[in-house]
Amino acid sequence: MTRFFFGGIHPDEGKELSSHRAIESLPAPTQVILSMSQNIGAPCQPLVKKGDHVNLGQKIGDGPGLCVPVHASVSGTVVSVGPHMTSGGAMAQCVTIDNDGLDTPDPSICPVEDIAALDSAALIDRIREAGIVGMGGAAFPTSAKISSALGKCDTLLVNAAECEPYITADDRLMREAPGRVMDGVGVLMRIFGLREAHIGIEANKKEAIEALRRAAPEGVQVHILRTRYPQGAEKQLIQAITGRQVPPGGLPAAVGCAVFNAATCAAIAEAVYQGLPLIRRVVTVSGLAVSRPSNFLTPVGTPYQALIDAAGGFCTVPYKIVSGGPMMGLAQFDLSVPTVKGCNAVTCFTDAERSETAHPHCIRCGRCAEVCPMRLLPLYLYQYERKDDADQLARLHVSDCIECGCCAYICPGRLPLVQSIKSGKTKAQQAAAAQKVAEVARTGGKA
Ligand code: SF4
Ligand code: SF4
Repeated sequence: MTRFFFGGIHPDEGKELSSHRAIESLPAPTQVILSMSQNIGAPCQPLVKKGDHVNLGQKIGDGPGLCVPVHASVSGTVVSVGPHMTSGGAMAQCVTIDNDGLDTPDPSICPVEDIAALDSAALIDRIREAGIVGMGGAAFPTSAKISSALGKCDTLLVNAAECEPYITADDRLMREAPGRVMDGVGVLMRIFGLREAHIGIEANKKEAIEALRRAAPEGVQVHILRTRYPQGAEKQLIQAITGRQVPPGGLPAAVGCAVFNAATCAAIAEAVYQGLPLIRRVVTVSGLAVSRPSNFLTPVGTPYQALIDAAGGFCTVPYKIVSGGPMMGLAQFDLSVPTVKGCNAVTCFTDAERSETAHPHCIRCGRCAEVCPMRLLPLYLYQYERKDDADQLARLHVSDCIECGCCAYICPGRLPLVQSIKSGKTKAQQAAAAQKVAEVARTGGKA
């Protein structure tokens, strides 16, 4: 039985702008800029230097710990290794490659002849070496996620919800390549030793539902979920499909679940079967400020400007451009920033969609608490952040906020709730760290 999660909203979907547009291959740009910080965890160290020739798919960065490799998304010449602005709003070490237009494949790309001969460890290693991260935006290293959940999970879930407005990248991928998604699901079932997998998809993706159902092998069930944001958040998806509730601060494995995004599954299939690293992905370019909203198969490292140009440029002066969708996306101020593995959309808004107000104020309506899927009290989190009250922020579980933006969307007073709560998380973390240091100093390290 499919269950509902608490709270949530149903904003204008905006998906009709691009959902009818088949995936087009974006011509590789003349230059790609590959960030060495594309995953949650440790950044890569560059393995190439200025002047080196690189092949398509060649590993150009790697590192120890929670880190997966970065690969060249074109063949050509490295023209620089150094800091460049990224879509996260900070400078990061990047490798810039002039594209020679030849797409010379790297010899390391080789299909596997007999998948059945690979055990779980070999499959996980192949996924790591392909540089796969969570492609729904989280960018957590997939190999690390699998390894940490091994032996703890009885339920494999695939997140095909794509609940964020405007974004249609996964929808198109599932409609056009459902078999690839299923191949990846099959790999994960093998690794976890499970006979079943459950795909959760929102009811508004009828063609994708049909395509997945036709392609689903025995043991894979497609669950139709109500269209409600943030249906695709991990904890909400788990609750909707299994009825299990991940405890505050806990991971899906705490309730026996492992969750992988549909595009990640497709990337796993390409890595395991074809030996292809994650060097391109589908990116939706949409919004009312774009001439021709589209879905592009995009080389990682493509400057945002190239994506906007391919979508026909702006049809009006955009008021805001975000990396991602309107609910969780990050505003961009420089279109030379490159796409990363976790980038599923670039959304461009017109002035008519402006939602800020010069004088935000709370009217104590309580709607923010009604829609918070984590059952938090956004109004109070906002107030305690402004008062720098880290104790109260911790008491109200500020760290459980998933930054979904439901509270800010619904707020009639237009309070900048998410920005404030993000800041509140940092303040609570810093206070906890300072308290720990003080405790160690007081006890001399004897707990
Ligand atoms: S952004 Fe955080 S506080 Fe606001 S609704 Fe989402 S989870 Fe709740
Ligand atoms: S929704 Fe906005 S106005 Fe209403 S209680 Fe929450 S913060 Fe205040």
